[in-house]
Amino acid sequence: MSAESEDMHQEASESRALVQFRHQVRQWCVEHIPPDWRETQTGADDEQFVAFQKQWFAELHSAGYAVPHWPAEWGGGMSVAEQVVLYQELAAHDAPRLVLAFVGIHHAASTLLVAGTEEQRQRHLPAILDGEIWVQGFSEPEAGSDLASLRTTARKDGDAYIANGQKLWASGGKHADWCLLLARTDPDAPKRKGISYFLLDMTTSGVEVRPIRNAIGDSHFCEIFLNDVSIPAANLIGAENDGWRVAQATLGAERGMTMLELAERLGNAGFRWLVQSAPVDDPIVADRLAQFETEITGLRGLCRKVVEDNENGTASPADASIVKLFYSELLQRMTDFGAEIGGLPAHTELAKPASSGWESGAWVLDFIGSWEWTIPGGASEIQRTIIGERGLGLPREPSAV
Ligand SMILES: Cc1cc2nc3c(=O)[nH]c(=O)nc-3n(C[C@H](O)[C@H](O)[C@H](O)COP(=O)(O)OP(=O)(O)OC[C@H]3O[C@@H](n4cnc5c(N)ncnc54)[C@H](O)[C@@H]3O)c2cc1C
Repeated sequence: MSAESEDMHQEASESRALVQFRHQVRQWCVEHIPPDWRETQTGADDEQFVAFQKQWFAELHSAGYAVPHWPAEWGGGMSVAEQVVLYQELAAHDAPRLVLAFVGIHHAASTLLVAGTEEQRQRHLPAILDGEIWVQGFSEPEAGSDLASLRTTARKDGDAYIANGQKLWASGGKHADWCLLLARTDPDAPKRKGISYFLLDMTTSGVEVRPIRNAIGDSHFCEIFLNDVSIPAANLIGAENDGWRVAQATLGAERGMTMLELAERLGNAGFRWLVQSAPVDDPIVADRLAQFETEITGLRGLCRKVVEDNENGTASPADASIVKLFYSELLQRMTDFGAEIGGLPAHTELAKPASSGWESGAWVLDFIGSWEWTIPGGASEIQRTIIGERGLGLPREPSAV
């Protein structure tokens, strides 16, 4: 199907209001997406990357497109159908991705909305819209999949908690203003019962961030060391020792709602890149592409269902894991295929624009980066366990407490 007839087919099945909205977003994309962003972001240094990310976020925000999934009272309120249209158009016009704002608009926002006090929401949600950057400080050297084994402590001391410990793999840590921090407040309680959830100002004395160089040479994720860091008790989110329950909102956002955009990116941009660089006359290649197209259609359907079920309060506890597992493994298969058919250039032209996702068309780098999705927020094995236990009602893993 040509792009034009695909558009007509898409529009024929949409309401008038939605078609209008699609045209409005399309026009906005044409007028606002910097046409040269791929060039300027290729080889960009940290400062250029951060400045560009902030500027792009501000652009989206001023159009009302930065946080469509937030409640209307906080600047969002788009229907699921509108969000899908927005993400389809941003992907189709190859818009830059929001990399630095990601944890703020998804993880921090959902946590604040589910468990924050009104004061915490008033303090942080508008600040996120003004460009405040967040990092997730959950994992530790001995606590990844088994997150509840975390050893960072926070000891109550008057109106504050004194935190000590080490966090690992904190994405975007070196640019972050605030951190979603899990720390142990009751060392004697069963491991999931003694954890509390804090909002940590990254400028606090005793916070040290050390970037880690990853497989493609970036230092996006970091270690965070906490040495006698004083966190005001007002920055506790949820009740003391109830952090494990609160953390499920953060992890749910990572596994579920974020996928609506990622599915559209993969569907539009990823598939298009793949078709453009693939020898489609080859029947084996054509067959693989058709298979990907089918899987992407399935992914889109799954994502929509999860978001709608969440809105209607009918979500099942394993839904978000199903979507995350399916998306991340499909991304890996597609980027692997891109590297396979991309020939020598895919392996030698190793330049990926900052501010793009892992469907950038730099296939080898995309493939390496695609592991970013099968490991964090619960690796694929863990997602399968969640689906088995919480979705299918299978017996629990013997070690789970
Ligand atoms: C790119 C990237 C970005 C990240 N960003 C962040 C971030 O911003 N903030 C943050 O807090 N963390 C972040 N992480 C950390 C991430 O959440 C952990 O890496 C992840 O939870 C896995 O933990 P681990 O690395 O300790 O591996 P391990 O837990 O040691 O797991 C190693 C392997 O064993 C398997 N395994 C472990 N336990 C089981 C089990 N019970 N059953 C079956 N298989 C099992 C795992 O699936 C995995 O394959 C990031 C990681 C990556 C790779």
